[in-house]
Amino acid sequence: MSKRDYYEILGVVKSASAEEIKKAYRKLALKYHPDRNKNDKTAESKFKEASEAYHVLSDKGRRNNYDQFGHAAFEGAGGRGGFSNFDFSSTFSDIFGSDIFEDFFEGFGGSRGRGRRRSSDFRGADLRYDLSISLEDAFNGKKQEINFSSSDKCLTCSGSGAEPGSKPISCSTCAGQGQVRSSQGFFTIQQTCPECAGSGEQISNPCKECRGIGKKQTRKKIFANIPKGVDDGTRIRLSGKGEAGIKGGANGDLYIFVSIGTHSIFKRSEENLFFEFPISLADAALGATVEVPTIDGGKAKVKVPAGTQNGKQFRLKGKGMPMMRTKNYGDLYIQAVTEVPISLTKEQKSLLEQFKKLEDSKTNPIIKDFFEKAKRFWKN
Ligand SMILES: [Zn+2]
Ligand SMILES: [Zn+2]
Repeated sequence: MSKRDYYEILGVVKSASAEEIKKAYRKLALKYHPDRNKNDKTAESKFKEASEAYHVLSDKGRRNNYDQFGHAAFEGAGGRGGFSNFDFSSTFSDIFGSDIFEDFFEGFGGSRGRGRRRSSDFRGADLRYDLSISLEDAFNGKKQEINFSSSDKCLTCSGSGAEPGSKPISCSTCAGQGQVRSSQGFFTIQQTCPECAGSGEQISNPCKECRGIGKKQTRKKIFANIPKGVDDGTRIRLSGKGEAGIKGGANGDLYIFVSIGTHSIFKRSEENLFFEFPISLADAALGATVEVPTIDGGKAKVKVPAGTQNGKQFRLKGKGMPMMRTKNYGDLYIQAVTEVPISLTKEQKSLLEQFKKLEDSKTNPIIKDFFEKAKRFWKN
């Protein structure tokens, strides 16, 4: 609820082009970048907010998902299935590795600050978990147990990497700054400290449990809520459930990629469901009430009027899939398919033969119409 709309964050309209989105983000990133706003928490959160919005809106698939489901497309819960490492992570380096990075340093008189420590350097990796669920599960929503192996903060050293009782010491190469400077002509070059990789710390006595890494591989079990109405291709983000960060970096996120198995009866198109239901020749001609299945496991009565033609479609309002983030449901469309009887007994045959003698242009207007056209065609 409290999360702001991504378009609003970037200050663009919903129909904005990719170029406009990039431009808007660039402007905000330059304004709020942590390097320009030291120790300014508001700027930092604005920067993160804008980066997240850009991360989503700059990708066609993600943007589509967002347009359709809003923030729910990336949040909520999760499942069964495969699991793999997933480099969704560094929005920052994605973006700042590109031309935006160039722009950013234009204003610095040529002094390229490449390699400053960024929090993303210590952020844990994002994880991807592929979850396959049934259409019924997508209809009902479910609480899904997810088992996976992931790195977690080492409990022995609380993630510091230093043996309990010892403390990381200030890096001697950079005096704890995380960066080293060297002069070259007019320019001062600032680089990430090669000794401590920018953390400003060195571990003199590494933790024996994790060998100084600060994290350990563990089996994890979590429960994720799969919201009602998820569709094939929906991505659900579990914030902070990815790999542990190191040296105070944030955890990565866990992304659940939902796929929905094919159903023996129902076909889905967004919020609507569809199937063909077979009906006997006699029922189609005489009219009947038939019971058809609904996705909630129940039945619906459908009145098939006398003279129902093959392919006639009926709409069962509200019997489709739930729509995410609303209380609404799609519809169920069913289409009558007449089954021509086969393997007739003697009696059935003779009854049909009797009926055939009584058939005329009134009982079969389509046939009459067609052959009149055909006759005219043959004449010309
Ligand atoms: Zn440890
Ligand atoms: Zn250092």
